[in-house]
Amino acid sequence: MSDGPVNTQSISGCCEEETPCRAASAAAVSPLSRFTRHVLTLFGLVFGAVLFIVVIGEWLGLFAAYTERVPWPLGVAVVLLGGSPVFRNVVRATLKRKITAHTLMTIGLLAALAVGEWATAVIVVFFMRLADYIERFTTDRARRAVKDLTALAPQRARVEREGTEYEVPVGEVQVGEIVIVRPGEQIPVDGEVTSGHATVDQAAITGESMPVEVGPGTHVFAATFARLGSLRIRATRVGADTTFGRVITLVEEAEAHRAEVQRTADRFSAYYLPVVVIIAALTFLLSHNPLATAAVLVVACSCSFALATPVAMLASIGAAAKRGVLIKGGKYLEALARADVLLVDKTGTLTLGRPHITDVVALDGVPEGEVLALAASVERYSEHPLAEAVRLAAQERGLPLHEPQDFVASPGQGVQARVAGSLVAVGNQQILPATAPVPVVVNHLARQGKTLLFVARDHELMGVLAAADTMRPEVPVAIDAVRALGVRHVELLTGDNERAAAALATPLEIRYQANLLPEDKIRIVKAYQAQGHTVIMVGDGVNDAPALAQADVGIAIGTSGIDVAIEAAPVVLMRDDWLLVPDVLRTARRTMGVVKLNLGFTAVYNLAGLSLAALGFLPLIFAAALQSLPDLVILGNSSRLLRARHAAT
Ligand code: ADP
Ligand code: MG
Repeated sequence: MSDGPVNTQSISGCCEEETPCRAASAAAVSPLSRFTRHVLTLFGLVFGAVLFIVVIGEWLGLFAAYTERVPWPLGVAVVLLGGSPVFRNVVRATLKRKITAHTLMTIGLLAALAVGEWATAVIVVFFMRLADYIERFTTDRARRAVKDLTALAPQRARVEREGTEYEVPVGEVQVGEIVIVRPGEQIPVDGEVTSGHATVDQAAITGESMPVEVGPGTHVFAATFARLGSLRIRATRVGADTTFGRVITLVEEAEAHRAEVQRTADRFSAYYLPVVVIIAALTFLLSHNPLATAAVLVVACSCSFALATPVAMLASIGAAAKRGVLIKGGKYLEALARADVLLVDKTGTLTLGRPHITDVVALDGVPEGEVLALAASVERYSEHPLAEAVRLAAQERGLPLHEPQDFVASPGQGVQARVAGSLVAVGNQQILPATAPVPVVVNHLARQGKTLLFVARDHELMGVLAAADTMRPEVPVAIDAVRALGVRHVELLTGDNERAAAALATPLEIRYQANLLPEDKIRIVKAYQAQGHTVIMVGDGVNDAPALAQADVGIAIGTSGIDVAIEAAPVVLMRDDWLLVPDVLRTARRTMGVVKLNLGFTAVYNLAGLSLAALGFLPLIFAAALQSLPDLVILGNSSRLLRARHAAT
């Protein structure tokens, strides 16, 4: 997974997307050995720097005019040699009928050569190449957080084959094989512990270093560490299929989900270059000064417009992944920063999702045990947290279960199946025949805010189960923080009954809508969007995946296992911590702040440079030298996001 498909082309700097200059200039020199390349680079740097000083000295009158004594063909040769990777790209782009920033700079360069200023031309080449390096360095740095994460990928595994242990590269482990992990070692695969106990540090997945206890039957994740104790693990997923592998892939792919501001910046660049050409043409017509014209072309074509957005986004996404927040693209950061409505699911999202059955009410003289046994039999294969609660209650009473036939689940309503010769249904009021009244004996349970599960046999209500679930303890603080961040409207959407919804919503002072089907949740999301709101939906991916997908940003909180949640939404919280919700909002705002600063600075800088150059106040060598300054500012500004640490623990 470390050699996965890293998308190096999304940040395309000076060049148009189809001709990424960095990739191409690297390819252009690839026949040379690394060493030769380093020597050449070093030589180029020293030569360029010395020449720069000499030319400045001449210009200030400090030195005699040395450069004039160099025969001009030599100067032209240096320009051609030093600038060859750039020229190659320009030619390639031109053949595709494309004009890039480098094209304009090359024209400026040729203008300088034409008037015999070979030294200036060399300096322009020098700074063009330098800017390229700075750009590459900047994007590399932005990717650093992702790289740090990739570096955590397990390399080797100890597998047991026919009673003998072999150490093999992790790629050779097969699903189903037994892997052995000793104390302090990294778990190389996703799998189930078959024997042994250990405490496991899951920071690589969840961002949280509090170790968890694992033992036989526990699911463990690749890239986490066993601290105390040894484990035998049966591999269920290996390599890129593991949760860790998928996180890496998704973070790497995040670069492709461009933010709207980046698309705007890209569109802007498309208009920008022609405008620069016009200004340059006017400069030449009015001043007849080829060097001032060249200065316009060179100063205006810094790559920073293209860098401003993706560098910040990438740094943020990488840093967030390390904290246990998976953000699948810059466009989601943008929407998060803008969002004003937060919709939340109840079961498993606002609550712990570990409900337990508190009451069993049997009607018409049916034994309680029978109600529970039939309900649990129907729930046998349901993945809903309530199903788990029903099964557990039956198990605690030692009730025998039947094998359900023709099992059907109606999301947001309940389940039904044929059990012991009867059709048994379990669910909310909506599974009851329209005529059946809700028995008065359960009113007091409803008033307590409990979830009521009606159990019907052959369309006759035979009993009611009451379930209680607890709110996640950090929710009140998290909701307050969300409000403080400007998301004023928070609303609970649930398939559960009115009272159960009110019991949670009232202390949180949020609105609620109850008795909703999954499609009602989508409808509500759409209604808010139609009113011009940007909607965040937080859910656990069970029954609410469509609403998560409809929202501008779906945030999946990993109750039902990160395994499910990871595909469910554009933002995934890798650990059950509601405080990560305000955390991700804060991250989004900071990122957009940095992006705006980057773009604003670049705009002002380019405008100033352009004006000075057009008026003839900016000599060509300074235009060249100042060209990579915005890149450095973007680098420094965006690096702040790499250090971002939030109080989310
Ligand atoms: P929420 O919107 O609160 O997350 P769901 O949409 O998952 O809840 O479910 C809504 C309601 O549907 C539950 O409160 C419950 O009454 C009923 N329900 C859903 N699935 C089941 C099930 N497997 N067994 C019993 N009841 C269920
Ligand atoms: Mg739910």
